[in-house]
Amino acid sequence: MDSSDPELLGELLAAVEGIARSGAFTLGPIVDRFEGAFASYCETAHAVGVSSGTEALVLALRAVGLAEGDEVIVPANSFIATAEAVRLAGGRPRFADVDADTQLVTAESLRAARTEAVRGVIPVHLFGRTVELEPILALAREWGAWVVEDCAQAHGARYAGARVGSFGDAGTFSFYPAKNLGAWGDGGAVVTNRSDIAERVRLLRSHGESPRYHHQIVGTTGRLDALQAGVLERKLRRLEAWNEDRRRVADGLRSAIGKLDGVELPALVDPPADHVYHGFVVRCEERDALRAHLKSNGIATAIHYPVPIHRSPAFEDLADGGDVAPTATRLAGEICSLPMFPSMSASQIARIGEAVRQFAVAAGNGANAKHVSPAIARGRAATRA
Ligand SMILES: *Cc1c(COP(=O)(O)O)cnc(C)c1O
Repeated sequence: MDSSDPELLGELLAAVEGIARSGAFTLGPIVDRFEGAFASYCETAHAVGVSSGTEALVLALRAVGLAEGDEVIVPANSFIATAEAVRLAGGRPRFADVDADTQLVTAESLRAARTEAVRGVIPVHLFGRTVELEPILALAREWGAWVVEDCAQAHGARYAGARVGSFGDAGTFSFYPAKNLGAWGDGGAVVTNRSDIAERVRLLRSHGESPRYHHQIVGTTGRLDALQAGVLERKLRRLEAWNEDRRRVADGLRSAIGKLDGVELPALVDPPADHVYHGFVVRCEERDALRAHLKSNGIATAIHYPVPIHRSPAFEDLADGGDVAPTATRLAGEICSLPMFPSMSASQIARIGEAVRQFAVAAGNGANAKHVSPAIARGRAATRA
């Protein structure tokens, strides 16, 4: 929380005050400055600030030339916005299954989802773990398809040494407050090395306007607010340190939880992959009982996401009776996001580790069943029923 760091809070409030006094709330020098800093951070030629991560996707899709009816492959396990954006831009999502260990799409799963109408793919660096991009980029080249990387959970992650977002035709980011880089409200960005795409997104985010009151194409109100740019510019300076802290917390959780039967830790990360731990997601067949046990120990967890996109009512019209992404469906019943934030203390980490271990020992060993908390017993009864 920004409010628990007095020095940061002071800087952010001063930035907001400066912008309020200047009265320059829409685009202008502050947004330009943040865009320059974010492009340089992402090691891309351009960054264009927009109003949200969803808008970043929609405008990037329009800028790469998505046409009405084009099909676009998206992961079945992502935040809903990835698929929503395809539909908002006039396309049709095709859902790719994910690898059980990384929970990410692979070149193989994209290949299995391909149709003749597929014009592009959106790999998502979900939870902060980088997708294995090289074979996916090769596949897209073979198909003549474009690639937009959804980096909303992976600010600053590197694949084979370069930042995510710099590999595809474009990369999109969200600055929703809970993301690794969060604004004081909504915001997003499109990064790209292609000046035609950057130019197109700049036009689209502000009514296709160039110059003032001359409208070249049909756009929208999709700009990043100057107030948010001011906040983000200050917070960007701390992003590397926060990501490093997240890795430290992840290492801490790995050793505090240890190797257990029944609770699987996130797969280890080997080069060329990277992980900035937007989430720390474990798998457990008795997931609901694990969550109940943690809750009774004062530890809040979440499920990202309880319903895979291809089975959600919003995309019911695309369902064909079968399950196009059975691994994503199975994972949705087993995944559990443990607490993860950069300032987590050693004692908080130890407490989470202790609670997870206690659950696994109780669930896996009859001799210890008498130590099972009432919450676990209830959860287990419910699981069996
Ligand atoms: C958060 C998120 C988005 C959407 O970003 P908003 O800023 O909330 O619109 C898109 N994709 C993924 C993977 C996300 O996590």
